[in-house]
Amino acid sequence: ALKRTPLIAGNWKMNLDHLQAVATVQKLHWTLKDAGHEGDSVEVAVFPPFTDIRSVQTLIDADKIPFALGAQDLSAHDSGAYTGEVSGAFLSKLNVGYVIIGHSERREYHAETDELVGAKVKAALKHGLVPVICVGETAEDLERFGASAVPAGQLETALAGVPASADIVVAYEPVWAIGSGQAATPAQAQEVCAALRGVIAKTLDEDAAARTRVLYGGSVKSGNIASFLREPDIDGALVGGASLVVDEFAAIVRFEK
Ligand code: PEP
Repeated sequence: ALKRTPLIAGNWKMNLDHLQAVATVQKLHWTLKDAGHEGDSVEVAVFPPFTDIRSVQTLIDADKIPFALGAQDLSAHDSGAYTGEVSGAFLSKLNVGYVIIGHSERREYHAETDELVGAKVKAALKHGLVPVICVGETAEDLERFGASAVPAGQLETALAGVPASADIVVAYEPVWAIGSGQAATPAQAQEVCAALRGVIAKTLDEDAAARTRVLYGGSVKSGNIASFLREPDIDGALVGGASLVVDEFAAIVRFEK
């Protein structure tokens, strides 16, 4: 069977300036090293604000720190009159590997639609970035439609026109679980992640479904990470609040210990 390397992704949201970012990445690196963490069993990725990316990239390169670098958003366009936007072309020049697309906070506060999310996914792929496509239901959706219907529909639209060979990551993030301290149960997260893998099989193909990592996100902590990663269709976590606390994030990365 195809082995999917777990991905632990830290979404810093709008926290940590570039000086704090450098200090945090250095501290995380040394904390994991001191704990004897082997870099290749788990992939670690950090998603700082745009203004931090250059500084973090320089540090990662200079000290050969084995973390992947991600951005929290990108423009659907390559360049032009889009004040305030950031192109995927600029991100890939800074060795950014991943980009979060369609986070629930962008959907809610910036009115991002499933169609815009799909356009951003294509922009990311065009510039060689791996999109981390976020989907998830609100508490109201959960009550009305159950857990899987809304995230499955969001993913189907996001993947329309994406080639089966594309390198993507999917993150299931129930909106009611984000920042609430109330994580989904591993069984419920597994059920939705399996359904999302089914959407990948249907819209891309079976091989894509088998190799694509599907993450769970929503109040992940060191105390619950292992229970999610025991599930067969959960291949890692997108971590918000706990990614800002170095010792806690390091403990999440070391979930096997
Ligand atoms: C997130 O915003 O992607 C997230 C999962 O946040 P938290 O871990 O704080 O719930």
